[in-house]
Amino acid sequence: MIVNPMMPALLLAQQRAMRATRFISAQSFDALAKADMSPVTAADFASQAVISMTLADDDATRSIPMLGEEDAQALALPEQHLLRERVIAAVAFALQRDNLTANEVLDAIQNAHCVHATSSTRFFTLDPVDGTKGFLRGGQYAIALALIEDGTPTLAALGCPHLQPFRCTSADALSVDAVGTLQFAERANGAFELDLRDVTADPCELHVAEWKAASAIRLAESVESAHSAHDESAKIFKALDCAVHNLRLDSQAKYALVARGDADLYMRIPVLAGYAECIWDHAAGTLIAQEAGARVCDLNMNALDFTTGARLTSNYGILCGDEELVTRILDVLRR
Ligand code: AMP
Ligand code: MG
Repeated sequence: MIVNPMMPALLLAQQRAMRATRFISAQSFDALAKADMSPVTAADFASQAVISMTLADDDATRSIPMLGEEDAQALALPEQHLLRERVIAAVAFALQRDNLTANEVLDAIQNAHCVHATSSTRFFTLDPVDGTKGFLRGGQYAIALALIEDGTPTLAALGCPHLQPFRCTSADALSVDAVGTLQFAERANGAFELDLRDVTADPCELHVAEWKAASAIRLAESVESAHSAHDESAKIFKALDCAVHNLRLDSQAKYALVARGDADLYMRIPVLAGYAECIWDHAAGTLIAQEAGARVCDLNMNALDFTTGARLTSNYGILCGDEELVTRILDVLRR
């Protein structure tokens, strides 16, 4: 079922990172504001450190550069010693190590923030806590790791610590008391979800739900109206004359819901003129959804182009879902 020799390291890294973010969320946590005013927490740094160290420990993944979202510089500042200690404690807990130094952790974060990685023919991209706003409000968030080879995501592992395992109803799936889910995909080899209650069990193969014309659309959208134009999406569904069940949730957990048939569509309509999506916000999720049978493209019908560096500068918005439904929405947009 798993073909690529890198995949076991990706899955181990994910399970450890989920342990680190849970360790932080079980305690009090503060957020730092980054230069773009978006929040970053101890969980973001700890997750990136744990994944970086785990992949550096494995022969199959060691030499591949990674563009992770977080930069360790702010964490290294003397005034951030409390935040640093929280990060170190979470990494030590996740890796079950008791002799961890601050430098080891800072180096691991920085090694995984290789800004030149995108010029290599293959590189990893990582969002260590995608949906940090969701994490802060106790909602959905994701740990998103993907390998990009020659401009195409070829391996993906997506951890959603607050998403219920497969085969819960959609409503239950969003209960944050979940054991969490870990989905993964290899290009041309399907998408799967591992049962975190028993990781030795066979993973479950994922398939998107077939949308029947005129039936209600289960729509996964951002919680943040600044990230996707809710009013514009409402206009599209009005034109389609279809009922909509809104599932508003943060992070790439939206792709996870589409991949396993708990949502029909994930749509992202730009709010800010000129905003280009970050590759780490989409690489893992798109591969998993595509391997589960979804069509993924932008609002101009173009395939996502991962050859343009850290951002998807050739694309405008995102559509991911059942082929027929995506085609109908593209028709409305063209008109
Ligand atoms: P979501 O959880 O769907 O709201 O998406 C979270 C991601 O939105 C974050 O990881 C950010 O990289 C990204 N983001 C930040 N600002 C914007 C924006 N103005 N438009 C779209 N996405 C954004
Ligand atoms: Mg993100």
